[in-house]
Formats: sequence, C-alpha cells, structure tokens
Amino acid sequence: MRQVKPQFRSRRKRCANCRDLFDPDPRAKDRQKYCSKSSCQDHRQRLNEKNWREKNPDCVAYQQEQIRAWHKARTNYSRKRRASDQALTMRNRIQARLRMRDRRFRSVFDKSKPIVKTVEDQAYWAKVKTNTQPIAQRSTVRPFSLL
Ligand SMILES: [Zn+2]
Repeated sequence: MRQVKPQFRSRRKRCANCRDLFDPDPRAKDRQKYCSKSSCQDHRQRLNEKNWREKNPDCVAYQQEQIRAWHKARTNYSRKRRASDQALTMRNRIQARLRMRDRRFRSVFDKSKPIVKTVEDQAYWAKVKTNTQPIAQRSTVRPFSLL
C-alpha cells in the first residue's frame, strides 16, 4: 500500500511587533518574524534600514556628504520652494512643530538630564499636560487635514 505523506501544515507564530498569531509563509517559515499587517511590515522595514545604517556608516556619511554638496550648489532651495507654495509653507510649519514637540517630549524622558530646568519649562509642561490627545495620535496628524 502506497503511503501518502501528510500535508505539511506550518505552525502559527507570534509576530515580533504586534504579538498576534499569524501563519508564516511556508517558504520562509523559519525566518519570518513579523505578520503581514502594514504597521508590522513598516516596523520591520524601519528596523532593517536602521540596522543597515549602523552596519554601513561609511555609506551613510557619503550620502550625507552628497546631500550637503547638493544643497550647497542650490543655496536656499527649500526656502525658495516653500516661498513659492503657501501649502508647502504650512505643511513645513506643522511638521516642524510636531517634530519639535516630540523632541521636547523625548528629552523629558532622558534620565541623564534634569526634567524641569526653568520656570518657562514648568509653564510649557503644565500646558502639555492639559492636552489630553495621546502623543502617538498627535504625531501622525496629516498636515493637510489641518488646512
Ligand atoms: Zn504583527
């Protein structure tokens, strides 16, 4: 009697980002650590890019040098571009505001620095505390939705 191989069924795995169970692709079952959700794939991609930059500091330095040279050859390129487009100016202002807010927020959790240094800091953080919208939601605001 001919024996039939049982159909291989891969075991479910837990995603390294969202911790949900998922069925890994049979071709990559041993290596796959993330599910197919776009947020998890984005996370994986950002991590890969970060690891690549850490492994290739020479290439990153070269790229930065290229960018510096490009901007040096085109003085005030971004400033002129924003000046010609009002929507771009607004978008840049909103992005800068959110970026600086996140930077300030992160500095609060930097244990190597004192949390509140001046009276102005105290006033700022009192204002931030009254803003009940979660930080994650604030930083993902699409600039154009505010226009
Ligand atoms: Zn996931």
